[in-house]
Amino acid sequence: MFEKERETAIEAVMKASRLCRLVQEDMLTDQTLEKKDRSPVTVADYGVQAVVSLSLQSVFPQDPLVGEEDASELKDPANAAIKEKVISRVQDVIPDVTEEEIIAAIDRGNHEGGGRGRHWTLDPIDGTKGFLRGDQYAIALALIEDGKVMAGVMGCPHLPVSMKDPDAERGCLFAAVRGGGAIQKSLGGGDEQPVRAHEIEDASQAIFCESVEAAHSSHSDSEKVASLLNVTAEPLRLDSQCKYAALARGDVSIYLRLPTRKDYEEKIWDHAAGSIVCEEAGATVGDVDGKPLDFSLGRTLRENRGVVATTSGIHSKVVSAVKKVLQ
Ligand code: AMP
Ligand code: MG
Repeated sequence: MFEKERETAIEAVMKASRLCRLVQEDMLTDQTLEKKDRSPVTVADYGVQAVVSLSLQSVFPQDPLVGEEDASELKDPANAAIKEKVISRVQDVIPDVTEEEIIAAIDRGNHEGGGRGRHWTLDPIDGTKGFLRGDQYAIALALIEDGKVMAGVMGCPHLPVSMKDPDAERGCLFAAVRGGGAIQKSLGGGDEQPVRAHEIEDASQAIFCESVEAAHSSHSDSEKVASLLNVTAEPLRLDSQCKYAALARGDVSIYLRLPTRKDYEEKIWDHAAGSIVCEEAGATVGDVDGKPLDFSLGRTLRENRGVVATTSGIHSKVVSAVKKVLQ
């Protein structure tokens, strides 16, 4: 099932990953860029949304897209220089496409989502802070049908292919279709390898991962959870949905995203691709109350709070510890 969708999504994310690497190379060579200049990630954000939207549109013209970006700011004459760069980078990976087509493709991402029919959801650059720091970021694309995530693809251009040898090759892609398992492949080429979450006997043996940004997930609460579970290993802090990838392939056993604000609603594009990759690798994904993530409600997960994703054997134990801490 979803053969064509899977193949199209993988190809789209591969092209988008190439675009990201070109922007990263520009960042390294452009001496005029200041450290706090966010324009490179803006170029990559729009560029990826254009590339993925164009790729999906050419095969599934009827499928709507829920994307993080829209082109309104790009149309502002004040942003002409950024627009020029976006167009040039998109044309590097999709030759012959016109400016009008690129802008229209970005704007196509404004769908409202919901629980009926099917739509795609895209985070063009998840982990913008990681992208700018030269750390982890991800291109996350998923297909949602009747409110359920059915397929997901994640491009992680800076993630080591193997954590056993983090200084060797970097750049991986993860893909999953509901009921079909999860795979990893190197962005440099090569075969697809199945990935499996690494079950542990006891939660105390876990390595857990969380956001680098304490504003996105409470580091102090996760420390309390770790202490209740007798976890001694230091947390692995990663930006973006690379955290889900790390769980899916057994680098860590727990991903905690503990709310820092009462009113924050998680966005569907921040979790759709990562959660299906983890579930198809045998892990369990839910929120801080242990409830499954509900992707049927529009652009946000408004009925959920935070995320607790773990290998399946320890999930209820970790959720209990989280509930105790958040009480
Ligand atoms: P991460 O790289 O895991 O820290 O997550 C990056 C994502 O966090 C971004 O894509 C934002 O959509 C999302 N985000 C922004 N503010 C918050 C918040 N207060 N709590 C949780 N996530 C947030
Ligand atoms: Mg994001």
